[in-house]
Amino acid sequence: MINKLFFCECCRNQIEDVEEIHYTEENSDRGFCSEKCIMDFYRPYMLSLEKEELNLRNSLNLISEENYIEITGNDHYLQLALSNPHEVWVTTDDIGQTFYTHIISTKTEEDDIHFILICSYVDGGPSFVYYRTATKYNEVLDFYRRDAKFDASMMEQEDKTDFQNYQIPPEVIETMERKKSHILSELMLNSSEHDINIEDYTKYDKYLELTLEGPDEIYAKDDEEGDELHTFIKSFMVGETSFFYVVIVYPLEVSELENMAYLPILGFPSIDEAMYSIYASGKRINESLKN
Ligand SMILES: [Zn+2]
Repeated sequence: MINKLFFCECCRNQIEDVEEIHYTEENSDRGFCSEKCIMDFYRPYMLSLEKEELNLRNSLNLISEENYIEITGNDHYLQLALSNPHEVWVTTDDIGQTFYTHIISTKTEEDDIHFILICSYVDGGPSFVYYRTATKYNEVLDFYRRDAKFDASMMEQEDKTDFQNYQIPPEVIETMERKKSHILSELMLNSSEHDINIEDYTKYDKYLELTLEGPDEIYAKDDEEGDELHTFIKSFMVGETSFFYVVIVYPLEVSELENMAYLPILGFPSIDEAMYSIYASGKRINESLKN
C-alpha cells in the first residue's frame, strides 16, 4: 500500500490514481490534484514576479505600459508565444527549478512590442504559465533575457522515421483522393469570401510541414466513411498578419514501419475564427496547455 500513496503537493489530499496526478515541471516530483491546487501553489511565484516587474520599472524610471494589457491578456498572443516563440531563455534556480521565458516581438505602427511570458515545461513543452507582460522598452526586454538562450532547434527534435522511403499503396492513394475531394467540397461550403482565397493557398504550402511538425492542437474525428482522421492546427504570425494553418491527416498503421504513418490529405490557411471553430472539433488528442 505504501507504494500507492500519492498526496497533492498543495492541499495534501490523497490522489487515488497515479494517472490523475498533474505535473507542471520537468524532472520534478511535485504533483497536484487539480488546476486549482496548481494555481494556489504557484501564486506566491506569480506575485513575486509581479513585484519584480514593478521594481524593475521603478528602477529604470519607466512608466507603466498599461495600454499593453490588451496584448498581455490576448489569448492569440499567448498561444503564439507558447508554441512559436521568437526567443526562448532558460534559467534554473538553486534547487533545480527551471523557468523558461518565451518572447515574441511584433511591430505596431509606432513601436516594436515584445510579449514576454515565463513558464515551466513538461515533456519538452510549456506546461504552466507563471507570468506574462508586454513592453516596448529594450531595457525591460533585456532584463527578461535570462540566463541562457535556448536553441530553437532543441525544441524541434523529433525522430524522423523512414517515411520518405515508404511507398504508399495505390489503394491508399485512391482512398486519400476520395477523402480529399470530400474535404475540399466541405471547405468551399465553409469558407467565407473574407477569408484567404483558394487560389492563394499554394503560397502557404510551406506551413503544411511546420504544422505537421509542431501543431498547437490535434483533433481526432471519424469521417463519413468511418475512418478516423486527425486535424492538425497551428497559429502563425508573419509580419503583422496572423493566421492559422489546418492539415487534415489520414493516420495509417504501416506494418513495414511498425509505426503509424500520418499522411496529409489536405492543408489550408485561414484567418477566419469561424473556420477555426469548425475545424478545431472532435476529440482533442494532444495535451492542452494550462495557464
Ligand atoms: Zn490538491
